[in-house]
Amino acid sequence: MLYQRSSKLFAEAEKVIPGGVNSPVRAFKGVGGTPVFAKSAKGAYIYDEDDNKYIDYINSWGPLLLGHAFEPVVNAVIEKAKQGTSFGMPTELETKIAELAVAMVPNIDKIRFVNSGTEACMSAIRLARGYTNRDKIIKFAGCYHGHSDSFLIQAGSGLSTFGTPNSPGVTQGTAKDTILARYNDLAHVAEIFESNKNEIAAIIIEPVAGNMGCVPPKPGFLQGLKDLCTANGALLIFDEVMTGFRLAKGGAQQLFGVDADIVAFGKVIGGGLPVGAFAARNEIMNYLAPVGPVYQAGTLAGNPLAMAAGLAMLEAINNDKDLFTRLEEKTAYLEAGMRKVLTAAGLKYTINRVGSMISVFFDDREVVDFETAGYGNNENFKKFFHGLLERGVYIAPSSYETWFITDALTYADLDQTIAVVAEVATLLDK
Ligand SMILES: *Cc1c(COP(=O)(O)O)cnc(C)c1O
Repeated sequence: MLYQRSSKLFAEAEKVIPGGVNSPVRAFKGVGGTPVFAKSAKGAYIYDEDDNKYIDYINSWGPLLLGHAFEPVVNAVIEKAKQGTSFGMPTELETKIAELAVAMVPNIDKIRFVNSGTEACMSAIRLARGYTNRDKIIKFAGCYHGHSDSFLIQAGSGLSTFGTPNSPGVTQGTAKDTILARYNDLAHVAEIFESNKNEIAAIIIEPVAGNMGCVPPKPGFLQGLKDLCTANGALLIFDEVMTGFRLAKGGAQQLFGVDADIVAFGKVIGGGLPVGAFAARNEIMNYLAPVGPVYQAGTLAGNPLAMAAGLAMLEAINNDKDLFTRLEEKTAYLEAGMRKVLTAAGLKYTINRVGSMISVFFDDREVVDFETAGYGNNENFKKFFHGLLERGVYIAPSSYETWFITDALTYADLDQTIAVVAEVATLLDK
């Protein structure tokens, strides 16, 4: 494939945008090379500026559960735009999407819309801190909750349970209120509660981690967290920015039968427009301004174009009773096909999958947390990524990302992908 225009556009972009991108992972730093510039997309395919065609397994990093340029979403946005793009006043549309979201997701009474997953998670912990009148939160190494200060924290050195900033600009003061735990390690979380009695406001977790590759929760882990929270007067926050409306209509809460206290959304809920949201039962949501004391706001929150896109997306998901079965079957088919060809090539690998989230690690040890996810960050992954890209299959340019399967993929697309994986597998190190 030729990437002439992409290379030229990237060089131009680098002059006026840091690293040429508006979000770091787009820059291919994890795999080497320069990013491909997108021109257009439809259904399962994306076309770059050199008119190369790819089967897309990123899908804007999750939002496009039903494929690119999904017509009901596109039409809803066009129709709305003609009537004005922003009012800064309440609209009926906001109530409609809120009603539908509340009907689809278990255990929530009210929802507040924001503009990104980052804002949703940031607001969720502020609400949890305000509601419990406590400062500390527990987050898990390898889980991503957006780029607000409280989450840009890594494990502290030695025996200290306090986190330390993992980006300059995050203060030590902020870091000391975020405690890092190991994913899937309930005993570790119990210890943290033990040594921070009456200080923990909330645990925040990706109920299926998708930002260290796909890492499922072990059986009983999520319920164990809920029980620890209940016993210690803390709130359980599910960051369902990735899993919400993807793993089931009601997200991970429904899939695993565990009730969270606050749920954060993003990605699918906006159908490809910038939307985030957070939701909870009345007693918690009524703690939010203007009803309660916890402040949170947004000039473009509940924007009519974004709400029109989100509503069209949620309606399509809600009205399609076989959607999640189809997604499960397609992704399981891809998994089985890849297992067959990777095994035939004699490669060491691990595939983790939950519903339409799947990832391949080129290491045969079990991947259960951030440390073990690191095994897959190796040369084979880089070769695999570039081999797929050159053959028209676009996966995320980092071993720490999950693949997002959409309903727009046909079995012919999946077969072609498996054939490409088989070819590339022969080029990897055994
Ligand atoms: C993408 C993501 C976020 C951040 O959402 P943005 O819209 O990129 O700010 C937060 N949490 C999880 C689990 C995510 O996958």
